[in-house]
Amino acid sequence: MKNIVLIAPPGAGKGTQAKMLCEKYKIPHISVGDLLRREIENNGLYKEILQEKMSSGLLVDDEIIFNLMNQRLNKDDCNNGFILDGFPRNVNQAIELDKMSKKIDIIIYLNTPKNILEKRVLGRMVCSNCGYSFNLLFDESKPKEINKCDNCKSTLEKRKDDNLETFENRYNTYIKETQPVLDYYKEKNILYNITTTDKYETFNMIVNILGE
Ligand code: ADP
Repeated sequence: MKNIVLIAPPGAGKGTQAKMLCEKYKIPHISVGDLLRREIENNGLYKEILQEKMSSGLLVDDEIIFNLMNQRLNKDDCNNGFILDGFPRNVNQAIELDKMSKKIDIIIYLNTPKNILEKRVLGRMVCSNCGYSFNLLFDESKPKEINKCDNCKSTLEKRKDDNLETFENRYNTYIKETQPVLDYYKEKNILYNITTTDKYETFNMIVNILGE
């Protein structure tokens, strides 16, 4: 199986697609945001700086991310393909990824308009146990029972950075820092652009691209 990177603005559904893909292909989903949130919960070394950057919608320092990614990509479960969600987020990180142990085969870019992103972020509820995402502002994505995960019945939570002010900052950070990464990969001819916003259509398009 291939080594895949998902790139998208906040709220485009990277996490949702990654979950569906890793279930289908039985490969790990590496969410950098989740790894960082776990560091905070576990009172890791960088807790304070992570909290400060993430709650203001800024990128965490590259050195912290490189350390985390080197460790994660060297684990045995990454030897037969993976889905990387949230790395690289700037050109410096893309250059560093090229030097890491795993070669990237495909970059999938989920191109989503800002008005939809805002609604997705503001209505998002995430399962505290299995990580499934729901949305209170879209009928097709509401949980069947209030505040309970359809998948495992655990309680749903709102992410601390899913508020209007932080969303604006995350979006601006994305435009300034992450969009140039797309040009970096366009030149390498491994970039695929998906413009639909329908969850299942997006999934089918990615499966077609992966061709396995
Ligand atoms: P989203 O893509 O919806 O903004 P994530 O969970 O992927 O959400 O990321 C949340 C936050 O974690 C980001 O706003 C940023 O502060 C931090 N972060 C995640 N990935 C990286 C990265 N590769 N480099 C620096 N900071 C990151």
